[in-house]
Amino acid sequence: MDFRFSAEEEAFRREVCEFLDREIPERWRELGYGIWEETDESWAITKAWNRKLGEKGWLALSWPKEHGGQARSLIEQLILDEEMAYHGTPTGIETVMTIGWVCPTIMMFGTEEQKRDYLPKAAKGDIVFCVGYSEPGAGSDLAGLQTRAVEDGDVYVINGQKIFTTVAHRADYCWLAARTDPDVPKHKGISMFVVDMKTPGITVRPLINMLGFHSFNEVFFDDVRVPKENLVGEKNRGWYQLAVALDFERSGVWVPAGAKRTLEELVEYCKETQCNGEPLARDPVIRHKLSERAVEIEVNRLICYRITWMQSKGIIANYEASMGKLFSSELLYRLANTGMQILGLHGQLDRGSKWAPLRGKIARAYLSSHSIGIGGGTSEIQRNIIAMRGLELPRG
Ligand SMILES: Cc1cc2nc3c(=O)[nH]c(=O)nc-3n(C[C@H](O)[C@H](O)[C@H](O)COP(=O)(O)OP(=O)(O)OC[C@H]3O[C@@H](n4cnc5c(N)ncnc54)[C@H](O)[C@@H]3O)c2cc1C
Repeated sequence: MDFRFSAEEEAFRREVCEFLDREIPERWRELGYGIWEETDESWAITKAWNRKLGEKGWLALSWPKEHGGQARSLIEQLILDEEMAYHGTPTGIETVMTIGWVCPTIMMFGTEEQKRDYLPKAAKGDIVFCVGYSEPGAGSDLAGLQTRAVEDGDVYVINGQKIFTTVAHRADYCWLAARTDPDVPKHKGISMFVVDMKTPGITVRPLINMLGFHSFNEVFFDDVRVPKENLVGEKNRGWYQLAVALDFERSGVWVPAGAKRTLEELVEYCKETQCNGEPLARDPVIRHKLSERAVEIEVNRLICYRITWMQSKGIIANYEASMGKLFSSELLYRLANTGMQILGLHGQLDRGSKWAPLRGKIARAYLSSHSIGIGGGTSEIQRNIIAMRGLELPRG
């Protein structure tokens, strides 16, 4: 067992940190936006940032070179993800979905033409996908999805509704799961499509999230005609492709890396802030809470490192990835809760108030901390996966 990074990996980390210190736009730092806070201005900054990373070949660092990547190792990818999260870059969730889930699936199951059409553009930051999986009646039970794709000559005609579709209002394409055979067991009749978001018949309706921002949507498909060549992989095998795509999900290291930054800010705040003539940092309850969060961040980091190590050895991390996601979700919630307890009533003030500690970051972290335990598979579903695949318990 060797927990050290190699000299080359350490050198890469230094290069990344220098780049981020130099290049993160000042305006982005002023805005202090988190992952679910999105406006026209922040979107423009994110887009420009992705293009900058794309030009450097860092957006799809570990992809093969023929698809626009740098063929760097998954460990280097982890280092880049970790530092970007710690430094709070403008990289958005759409990048995680496009680069981390959708494109690797196209790489694996798509035709040569599909690979040529989408991958180099995505690696340059020129296009993004939204993910059309969830429906009003199909979230955890995703295989129950009802959106239909029916063959008609050289097109599929799509009808149905998706929900919680993050960045659908910005995306160039939708990575869509639709039912192509309603007469077979539900897992066996699903296919995957790339749908141009400008196709007639698509209506995107905003959903405003708990932070007051428009980051996800309802998307309606009314007789949307999609060329047959936009089917990705085999017809009716979409469920299995979708499952493979979830295994591409990166280590999730952005959670402990971002949490480490927040913890450091809270520690600084406790050292600087006096209460009843004493710095908060002397309060035994606060000290213990901060220490507990520090231990949890370290545990989460090591789970994420293990997942990356497994992936780098070609081992599929399925229940381990669920452990990582579950732990991350609960860590973010506990950290935000600790922050709210330390800041007291001031902690509820948002940016813009001169009395808002840490520019309102903790209040927003508290509100957004609930989302990670839902999006991408809820904590209960992660527990079910760990029980079945990790502990080999029978299906509940
Ligand atoms: C911030 C955010 C962004 C999202 N972005 C996208 C996106 O871009 N694209 C997309 O397609 N979807 C997206 N989603 C949707 C997300 O994937 C679903 O919300 C999630 O899968 C849960 O589905 P549901 O909301 O239908 O809840 P349900 O599946 O109805 O679950 C309701 C409750 O029941 C519990 N439950 C359900 N089944 C079981 C079971 N078998 N055992 C124990 N408990 C169970 C759940 O844990 C949950 O607590 C996003 C969600 C959020 C919060």
